[in-house]
Amino acid sequence: MTQDYIIRAMTTNKELRAVAVRSTDAVNHAQQAHQTTPVATAALGRALTGGLIVGNLVKSGMEISLDIMGDGPLKRIIVNANYKGEVRGYVSNPNIDFIKNEAGKLDVAQAVGKGYLTIKKDLGIKEPYTGSVPLISGEIAEDLTYYFTKSEQTPSAVGLGVLVDTDLSVKAAGGFLVQLLPDASEETISRLEENLAEIKSISALIEKGLTPEEILEKLLDGFEFRVLEQADVKFKCKCNRDRIAALATSLGEDEIRDILEEQGKVEIRCHFCNQSYQFDEENIEEILAKSKEDN
Ligand SMILES: [Zn+2]
Repeated sequence: MTQDYIIRAMTTNKELRAVAVRSTDAVNHAQQAHQTTPVATAALGRALTGGLIVGNLVKSGMEISLDIMGDGPLKRIIVNANYKGEVRGYVSNPNIDFIKNEAGKLDVAQAVGKGYLTIKKDLGIKEPYTGSVPLISGEIAEDLTYYFTKSEQTPSAVGLGVLVDTDLSVKAAGGFLVQLLPDASEETISRLEENLAEIKSISALIEKGLTPEEILEKLLDGFEFRVLEQADVKFKCKCNRDRIAALATSLGEDEIRDILEEQGKVEIRCHFCNQSYQFDEENIEEILAKSKEDN
């Protein structure tokens, strides 16, 4: 059975670096968790896939966040990913109506609108690296391409695709990145351009059952390459009851007691995975007592 994973490769002439990922199951997981409508699924799925690609390029132990802040109806998309292929994310407005463009396709650009793409890379030790670029199309793949070229000064091409089924589930999702390394020759560049022109739709290739290796064979056709790294991909959240309880205390004791009085319990949902955590009166007393101890 095909499953989600991500690979990174380099051509043996050391002129090109490439990443390919199948993310169908991870995007499906996100669709179910957030109950996204098709255009929101497509936008969030592209962002999750793009996040996995950015996360694959960072050093081990690092984590990235990808933040798309647009003025369209989706509002904001936030994705966290790491080098291990773990990803999570959400969109502010998961259930917007169908938006289709003139070609009858889901119009992600219109749903995202104009705004900014910001990438943060957190090493966990120093100040995080942050790079931000204006959204040039809202289609996300073009915006990431622009980010790599402009903010990281690495000429790149990014393809991201999500195919939504009639029952709202995700039929196929995946993506690729290819980057020119400093020694890339003119011949390499023009060959790569030909290859890129051949790849019409990354989601169609995933739907056909192509593996990430087979996608790289198309992308890097005419070049020898070696796969340097491979990681399983999964939608995985970091939330747990203790973290959410800590979040509850940040509301302040008065606020928590008000909610408890009104609703008989405190319910907090994790933004990233939409899981609900409930705390009854006894739990709340424990949490408050513990937070006083800690201070
Ligand atoms: Zn969560």
